[in-house]
Amino acid sequence: MSGSFEFDIHSSAKSYHVLAGTGIVRPHVEGSRAILICDEVLPTYYPWLEREASILIQAREEFKTLDTIGVLIEQLRKRGTTRSARVIAVGGGIIQDVATFAASCYMRGIGWDYVPTTLLGMVDSCVGGKSSINVGSYKNIAGNFYPPDTIWVDTDFCSTLSSAQMIEGLCEAVKICYASTDNAFDRYLALADAGDLLRDPAHVVKVIALTLATKKVFIEEDEFDTGIRLLLNFGHTFGHALEGASGYRISHGIAVGLGMLASFSFSEAQGLVDRSCARASKLRAHLRWLLAQVPGLDAELARIPADDLLRHFDSDKKHTAEHYVVIAYDADGALVRHLTPRTAAIERTLHHAFAAM
Ligand code: NAD
Ligand code: ZN
Repeated sequence: MSGSFEFDIHSSAKSYHVLAGTGIVRPHVEGSRAILICDEVLPTYYPWLEREASILIQAREEFKTLDTIGVLIEQLRKRGTTRSARVIAVGGGIIQDVATFAASCYMRGIGWDYVPTTLLGMVDSCVGGKSSINVGSYKNIAGNFYPPDTIWVDTDFCSTLSSAQMIEGLCEAVKICYASTDNAFDRYLALADAGDLLRDPAHVVKVIALTLATKKVFIEEDEFDTGIRLLLNFGHTFGHALEGASGYRISHGIAVGLGMLASFSFSEAQGLVDRSCARASKLRAHLRWLLAQVPGLDAELARIPADDLLRHFDSDKKHTAEHYVVIAYDADGALVRHLTPRTAAIERTLHHAFAAM
């Protein structure tokens, strides 16, 4: 099969397997009696996902909550799921987040497989074992680490994603490559130049292979997010503020893309980097090109009150009591975890950074 690949990820809980290719999921699902936890829109596009015992979930940020975990656990119980059962989660990052959390605590933990169906899930969130649940207005404030046994990455699912949904995935993909200290960013840009990443799944699978191999290095060296893995939060502090302040009308991947631009303006204002930095300029040019293709984005941005952005930025869980913590650019365009005292003066810099998106 062209473009297929597989590899293992080693974590302290266990090693788990990633299998990627085209058309690999349907035979696996059809040959399995496992209960599916599935994004409710998917059986419309892929009728072979329709099963009597499936648990269908709406992939909406407002439902990534502890209430949904309760519903999932109740549904697993109603279907007679035992401790030795296995579930297969099928969907994007939202389904992954709730399925990870539910599988980890149902009967103190059951086995599960994950099938990412968005490009964002395929290039990024599917590996790393994290779950993130929203509580009240706090995005991703609760969660744990509970990797699946096998991750089935099937680019057939890209055929029903819009260009904007493909761009969401590419924003996270370029983030991972840029955060890496090897030449992953140059290889990503070469792939972006060489083919159509929005419409050609045979080409996209090369980006998926690159980002997963790159992310593997981060998560195996720093499984629990205390060192280099924190750099993968690049774009997320500004991005989460945007998502929240827009009432989630701006989706996660797009918000992260914009967040990487805001982080540049912030880093520049802090005297960490300037516009002569070639590496950062290449990233900004690529992001501007991607984001210009998202329909209605400028109008959506114009609707967000600046004070709401600051309020959401302020409540990000990565800040400390005394400092704002941002993944910033240094003079060479490499990423650094930067702490800035929470002073009134910093508010102007933040307003300016959000305005630079
Ligand atoms: P999503 O689950 O929000 O899906 C986005 C949209 O695409 C939904 O409307 C969904 O119904 C639709 N969809 C899914 N697959 C489709 C397909 N094949 N064809 C057509 N439509 C399809 O997912 P996302 O954008 O992948 O993820 C965003 C979420 O993931 C955020 O909540 C973010 O916080 C979370 N996330 C988690 C991690 C992690 O490590 N756990 C990492 C990154 C992001
Ligand atoms: Zn993300």
